[in-house]
Amino acid sequence: MSNGTLTIDLEAIKSNWLALDSMSNNTVETAAVVKANAYGLGAKQISLELAKVGARKFFVASAEEGSEIRATLGEEAKIYIFSGHLAGKSSILQQSKLIPLLNSPEQNIRHQQNLPTEPFGVQLDTGMNRLGFERADFAEFLELYKEKIPELVISHLACADNKGDHQNTNQLKAFSDITSELSCPLSLAATGGIILGKEYHFDMCRPGIGLYGGAPFKEAKPVVNLSLPVIQTRALVPEESVGYGATWTAHRPSLIATLSAGYADGLIRAMSGRAVVYANGTPCPIAGRVSMDLITVDVTHLTDIPEHMEILCEQQSVDQLADEAGTIGYEILTGLGNRYNRKYTGV
Ligand SMILES: *Cc1c(COP(=O)(O)O)cnc(C)c1O
Repeated sequence: MSNGTLTIDLEAIKSNWLALDSMSNNTVETAAVVKANAYGLGAKQISLELAKVGARKFFVASAEEGSEIRATLGEEAKIYIFSGHLAGKSSILQQSKLIPLLNSPEQNIRHQQNLPTEPFGVQLDTGMNRLGFERADFAEFLELYKEKIPELVISHLACADNKGDHQNTNQLKAFSDITSELSCPLSLAATGGIILGKEYHFDMCRPGIGLYGGAPFKEAKPVVNLSLPVIQTRALVPEESVGYGATWTAHRPSLIATLSAGYADGLIRAMSGRAVVYANGTPCPIAGRVSMDLITVDVTHLTDIPEHMEILCEQQSVDQLADEAGTIGYEILTGLGNRYNRKYTGV
């Protein structure tokens, strides 16, 4: 139902990529993470624009995501798959020339059996305990597969958004130790790692959220604007309530605007009674619960009710909205749903 308009500023994304790229030395390559449809914003459009400013290497979560951007990017770009070489994916990896980041001895055996001449990378676990070769397994791999040289070896930081966290230096040391004898390119830093400093950059950085305007890249240009149509307004007398569960009650004569978008559009229920929407720059609190297709907003203090109100805009970043809902910018962006008119600017 939502005919809200989600505007995605490709110029801002390119500028964020260039800014992140300039934070590392010239010898360090900057890739782009475009998994989950580029954090919900459009992997094809965004990869293509980033290629125009110099991105040559792209990371996605699954082979299917890789295959989608391969058609857009052409043969030259390198596309890495975080989930590695899963059962049943050999032919899509081969057909779309995708480079799996092998996560385990099982994946390595699968790769060497099914695609012995195709390139691969390796993801190491250095303390996040989520995905990647354990140290001992990787040592065994190096021993048993001496002639098989990975294209790239990566690991991922668990606490990079927190500069003072000891886990950063622990993981840095573990990654440096495990890879000290390798001659292939290495990559540890995502957005947070780029900001931590040059010792985290190795040969390649792989930012995601920073490209899309999110924390911890504070200087990022905002990328998204989300404008929602007002589809009804109604006057309430004191003691009348609003929405499911009647959780909001008017304590004065009130005016409530109903906007077309709800939790099915990624405006999660946790925003109920907490987040604000902007009417030409004036904040208006969400009144009562967010429902599937609608939100209700207290606009009593406005002199004019606009036709549209904004929930992501100059006054309210993705991270600010996320904060109000008790989550993170990543979750807000990737949840934004398919019912908005999507407009790309800055091509
Ligand atoms: C998602 C992801 C990234 C990008 O992280 P950001 O925090 O969005 O910059 C990099 N590496 C891995 C392994 C990831 O899963």
